Amino acid sequence: MIENINSKSYECCIIGAGPAGLGVAYELVKNGVKDILIIDKNKLAGGLARTEVFNGTRFDVGPHRFYTKNKEVDKIWHDTLGSLFQPVTRFSRIYYKNKYFNYPIKPIDVLIKMGPLGSLNVMLSFLASQMSKKNKPITFEEWIVQKLGRKLYETFFKTYTEKVWGIPCNQIGAEWAAQRIKGLDLLEVFKNALLGGKNKKIKTLVEKFYFPVLGAGQMYETMCEKLVSQGVELMLESKVIRFNRQDNTVKSIDVLKSDGEKININAKQFFSSVPLAHYFRMLNPVESHQILDSAEMLRYRDHITVDLLIGRKKVFPDQWIYVHSPDVKTARISNYKNFSKKMVEDENKTGLCVEYFTNMSDNLWNKTDEFLAALAISELEKMCLIKRGEVQRYWIIRETEAYPIYYLGFGDHYNLLKSRIDQFVNFYSIGRAGMHKYNNQDHSLISGVLAARNYLKLPGSPYALWDINVDAEYYESA
Ligand SMILES: Cc1cc2nc3c(=O)[nH]c(=O)nc-3n(C[C@H](O)[C@H](O)[C@H](O)COP(=O)(O)OP(=O)(O)OC[C@H]3O[C@@H](n4cnc5c(N)ncnc54)[C@H](O)[C@@H]3O)c2cc1C
Repeated sequence: MIENINSKSYECCIIGAGPAGLGVAYELVKNGVKDILIIDKNKLAGGLARTEVFNGTRFDVGPHRFYTKNKEVDKIWHDTLGSLFQPVTRFSRIYYKNKYFNYPIKPIDVLIKMGPLGSLNVMLSFLASQMSKKNKPITFEEWIVQKLGRKLYETFFKTYTEKVWGIPCNQIGAEWAAQRIKGLDLLEVFKNALLGGKNKKIKTLVEKFYFPVLGAGQMYETMCEKLVSQGVELMLESKVIRFNRQDNTVKSIDVLKSDGEKININAKQFFSSVPLAHYFRMLNPVESHQILDSAEMLRYRDHITVDLLIGRKKVFPDQWIYVHSPDVKTARISNYKNFSKKMVEDENKTGLCVEYFTNMSDNLWNKTDEFLAALAISELEKMCLIKRGEVQRYWIIRETEAYPIYYLGFGDHYNLLKSRIDQFVNFYSIGRAGMHKYNNQDHSLISGVLAARNYLKLPGSPYALWDINVDAEYYESA
């Protein structure tokens, strides 16, 4: 604990004003708990789902679609924003080797763009995959190749996945594919795509989603406003730097505010969306070597967005384009105006976001803003989406620990850390980085809601928080 600093006490302290942390606060307030503090190091609520505003143009941290099968989450979202939460019909394509493929893939489109030979190749490799003997797949690559054949894997999965994760698909665990693509009947997709299915709707390839008119972050800023009006305290631009524990009880946290002030917060119960590995590193007294070594073995993918203001009314019709081509570094390009017209102040302009998945240790992470903007602009030009002279402004957002990585062999370390977390009597690790899970917003939000219910010992509790998202039935980026 830091000596001689201000100290405050609350019943519940929530670290992270992202969907998970706000899910906790929502449920606590709903059940009468008022003495709550939410702390976040950012200046805006929303976490990875926040919306930054630059010169009146609104940019999310990459494209954020709101879609859930969870009725409670759906209700929270709709209750929060009402008519400001609007349906959007999805249109997105895959860019691969100078061609734009419709997504979900369509038969005629694939035939035309791959040509007769290419399509025959796809079909033969698919048939070969169906006829070959199948062992239990261990890697992502094996999982997809067994289901789809090598050619479709190489065209529609390999390069994008490797850009996102930064490791070869044969080093990514099959559990990731199984988690993210579980409900997706790939055979059906393939039949639809190449043999012309009878337009049977594949529920996993969501065609409609909801979106707040002012960007994803509007949802969480509004949730925050409502919580604050009900007595919750919100402390932004404040970073937790230490968790003080006594045995398995977290007694307090040390917080460093952006103005340099340090404070100490005591609470009966802590809920944390701090990345799991960081939590263990911040514990005082320190954890065992075994725990610290396992924490070192958790890996994350960091993320850069280059946000561009384009002086043109219409640039492309997609909400986002998956960029599978290996000859450009970006993995995805989004056009926020196609999510909501209100994302730009001036209707004659367009806000684009070019995403780079990277590691803090990579060269790219340490490049200047000028370099990154020039790279993004040259790649957009190469894809014939814009002309250099149309770019009026640019802004760069660097986000650490954006994607928890499920690499082969991380499981034992992860299991050890999970069981250590479960020994703490007044601490829940929640959300995407907090649980080291490839969560969407809904999974994170519900992890917070259920953690609050566990604390309150509400009927149905204790909920198995680690199991959230294991049964995810839709896929963000097939
Ligand atoms: C590029 C991209 C695209 C995505 N697209 C979608 C999509 O289309 N649909 C969808 O549903 N989901 C999408 N997601 C996932 C979604 O953003 C996350 O699931 C969600 O934001 C996770 O919420 P969370 O609260 O668990 O974590 P976060 O959003 O990461 O929030 C955690 C919060 O904790 C704070 N924090 C961390 N450490 C500290 C500390 N030491 N002190 C104080 N505060 C701290 C952070 O500042 C942050 O605000 C996407 C994510 C990314 C990166």
